[in-house]
Amino acid sequence: MSDVRNVVIVGSGPAGYTAAIYASRAQLDPIIYEGSVTAGGALMNTTEVENFPGFIDGVMGPDLMDNMRKQAKRFGTELITDDIVEMDLSGDIKILKDGSGNTVKAKSVILATGSAYREIGLENEKRLSGHGVSWCATCDGFFFRGQTIAVVGGGDSAVEEATFLTRFAEKVVLIHRRDSLRASKIMAERAANNPKIEFLWNTEVIDVLGEAKVSGLKLRNTVDGSESTRDFTGLFVAIGHIPRSELLVGQIDLDGEGYVRVEGRSTRTNVKGVFACGDLVDHTYRQAITAAGSGCAAALDAEKFLSGH
Ligand code: NAP
Repeated sequence: MSDVRNVVIVGSGPAGYTAAIYASRAQLDPIIYEGSVTAGGALMNTTEVENFPGFIDGVMGPDLMDNMRKQAKRFGTELITDDIVEMDLSGDIKILKDGSGNTVKAKSVILATGSAYREIGLENEKRLSGHGVSWCATCDGFFFRGQTIAVVGGGDSAVEEATFLTRFAEKVVLIHRRDSLRASKIMAERAANNPKIEFLWNTEVIDVLGEAKVSGLKLRNTVDGSESTRDFTGLFVAIGHIPRSELLVGQIDLDGEGYVRVEGRSTRTNVKGVFACGDLVDHTYRQAITAAGSGCAAALDAEKFLSGH
């Protein structure tokens, strides 16, 4: 049994790192698979986080994640910058395989793989990805200096991205399928007061135009169905996220949208010894602080489970 870990944590956003901080302080000797390219999770692609408690003047998303990572390490968490590519969660001993072909065994597993960007689902959106189509303003905004670009979506992400992109772009057109934003008031107001942002209401993107790179968008009015085209050199898609649960299909209970089902207010899944937290579970709140809170709960649930063994 000596090569069997107490707890393996899969995923490294605020949920995964918080679970690691709690599990390592409880001396469970956790190992966390941070992901090969996604270490730190969604906050690595964001700018200033103004609402994480404890930071009066805000904190940059990547700095917040780096602090959590270092805090987990300080208490002895083993950090592995690799993906888990296969899992067998069925037995008392869980077996996980990483992207380098190594196998790790564990008595308990905390799933914290978060969510991925949602795509509009257009053929040319995929084809022109990296050639004018992007899901990350902080990664790619710089390339659109002095240009006219579009952001699609009506939530906090879209508004945040549009506002951030005005640092570089000449003009940012926020395209939303309805006539009111889902975004929080404070962020919506900031965007509304930004002279570089134009709102295009009741409009959906039905095609991305351009051969080698984006040259424009084909649009449809969602009220009267009329179609039009408009020139843009970039498209940022910010229409929400989907849970990253593809490895779990057939292993644990997922709901119709692919989120992991947990028992009541706990992080317990239907499989003994397997816990889930963060955006992988959360339909509703999806904030850094709620993800961190559920990561804490997962570590406490895992600790309780292990103490019963
Ligand atoms: P979201 O709140 O789910 O909003 C997604 C937006 O995309 C909605 O406006 C939705 O339109 C639109 N949409 C969805 N599918 C679409 C499609 N196929 N075509 C066109 N439009 C589509 O997602 P989010 O903005 O990524 O935010 C997720 C969570 O993170 C939220 O809880 C948010 O508060 C949080 N967040 C917080 C901050 C912050 O506080 N700094 C920053 C970013 C995100 P409808 O409105 O018509 O449904």
